[in-house]
Amino acid sequence: MFIKDINELGSQIHCLITGLDMRDVKNNEIYRLDDCNHIFMYRALLKVLSIQNKSIYNYFKCPYCMADINSLDIIIDYEL
Ligand SMILES: [Zn+2]
Repeated sequence: MFIKDINELGSQIHCLITGLDMRDVKNNEIYRLDDCNHIFMYRALLKVLSIQNKSIYNYFKCPYCMADINSLDIIIDYEL
């Protein structure tokens, strides 16, 4: 799910992919995987998942702990 409030970050304040401090990031850019609770920059997460999964039929896995991702919110971005 998307994190709306930086207080929800808890002790993990840096993106596990980019290393950026997520306290400076605006809404809808921070995403918490419901399955393992790891938190990432949303765009970095989508990029890694697109590289990690050569086939759309593969299961998504958390790039940090490799837990299976059972749900992922997708935002359709018309500006791509
Ligand atoms: Zn994880």
